[in-house]
Amino acid sequence: MSDENCLFCKIRDGKIPSTITYRDDDVFAFKDIGPKAPLHELVVPTRHVATLADAKPEDTELYGRLLVIAAKRARESGQAAEGFRVVMNAGAAAGQTVFHVHLHVLAGRALAWPPG
Ligand code: AMP
Ligand code: ZN
Repeated sequence: MSDENCLFCKIRDGKIPSTITYRDDDVFAFKDIGPKAPLHELVVPTRHVATLADAKPEDTELYGRLLVIAAKRARESGQAAEGFRVVMNAGAAAGQTVFHVHLHVLAGRALAWPPG
């Protein structure tokens, strides 16, 4: 599934340049263009899914895969032992600006809690 106006579908298809760090049939990852920490990548489902707010039981495996790849990227970046954070903003009030589901992976500095 694809949305021709979607930024992350365009990144998936190579129509907008990005630094891809992981790709398989179901998931890809790339560096965030405005990193908020030394490690800041986005882990994204290959098919266009707008928001976690629409998640259904049949999406369980896909959302699980996003977390597994987030952990893999944290390990590969040498950040897993020290600590990393995954964040998924769902909806505009929560800070979602791109409506193609993505998991932020952040690490490499002290991360305050609670987030803003
Ligand atoms: P969110 O606000 O949770 O929807 O996150 C969207 C993220 O996409 C932000 O952290 C942006 O910095 C990032 N972003 C926007 N455009 C690009 C791009 N062309 N390449 C990589 N990351 C991007
Ligand atoms: Zn999309």
